[in-house]
Amino acid sequence: MPRFSIHDEKRLKELFQEHKIPAFRYGQIENAIYKNFITDFDAIQTIPKDLRELLKEHCFYQSLTLDHEATSSNGQTTKFLFKTQDDLLIEAVIMRHLSGRNTLCISCQAGCPMACTFCATWKLGLQKNLELHEIVEQVMYASRALHNEWTRLRNIVFMGMGEPMLNYEVMKQAIYIFTHQKKFDLSSRRVTVSTCGIVPGIKKFTQDFPQTSLAVSLHAPNDEIRREIMPVDHTYDLSKLMASLDEYTDKTNKRIFYEYIMINGVNDHLKLADELGKLLQGRLAHVNFIPYNPWEGTSSDGYSTTPRFIIEKFQKILEKYGVVSTIRATMWDDIDAACGQLARKKKQEKK
Ligand code: SAH
Repeated sequence: MPRFSIHDEKRLKELFQEHKIPAFRYGQIENAIYKNFITDFDAIQTIPKDLRELLKEHCFYQSLTLDHEATSSNGQTTKFLFKTQDDLLIEAVIMRHLSGRNTLCISCQAGCPMACTFCATWKLGLQKNLELHEIVEQVMYASRALHNEWTRLRNIVFMGMGEPMLNYEVMKQAIYIFTHQKKFDLSSRRVTVSTCGIVPGIKKFTQDFPQTSLAVSLHAPNDEIRREIMPVDHTYDLSKLMASLDEYTDKTNKRIFYEYIMINGVNDHLKLADELGKLLQGRLAHVNFIPYNPWEGTSSDGYSTTPRFIIEKFQKILEKYGVVSTIRATMWDDIDAACGQLARKKKQEKK
């Protein structure tokens, strides 16, 4: 029998039943893993030795290995590049905020099938959907790192590699582990799922997770431009997307985060700010402008970042429509921290 992950609650409970182990032991193990951040089964002193041996025989604690770790020069951002058992590279990034509200950006797929032109991940193609434990282990690893800095993880965003709505069932189980009181115990609204706009996924999400935060990579206010940079728009155009988002806000009364990457000369024309304003006017929205992060020096598509003063003009125009926005700080320039950049670089080095 292959071993299973310690995060697989169902299998672990089955194992306990088979071996007539009292149910309360599960709580002790849960406590050791998620609250005390033990690193191996021998360190769980609250359980008897034979149970520790049983765990060692049937379970594994961590399948990912750390391939590379980099912290930005200002100390705010740490990027982890992990290798899966099947030798795929995935990334997770800690963003430390001065307020102490640390955020972890996690991956849900190795590679990505969505083919957004500006994103480094898609050039890898979809390698696989991550398994539950591979997602949870990213959080485990980062939580331990923060614990060692006397602080803790407060927010999780599914904004690393991959499209969470395409690994829906696993994402669902991962959110259960992130928010369960006896596990990571994060507040639901501090978990954010970011999607490029997979409408059926958004509909399911609205039913399953009315408390969890939703971000949408919008990147353009009309189908013409959106289609050029995000092929998903051919399947789910803006009218379908906005209708599904309205259902979400109607049901949850929660503000949606709209991500808008600023690419020079592609989607940053000031008349688009008016279009964006008209699109989001009256909707529960918060726009996050993300300065395009070039990969490999300059992108193969010749993309470059919109100058800051233009982004600020965009923001002013949106204000006229009563749409709030922020400009995301690029805290990670020196470590290739944007989505897929490091994994892609490493893969190329190997060639
Ligand atoms: N598939 C999901 C989550 C992963 S992408 C989604 O599309 O939302 C996470 C965010 O990073 C998205 O908003 C994406 O558009 C942005 N991103 C990707 N490549 C980028 C780059 N080169 N510079 C800045 N942001 C980028």
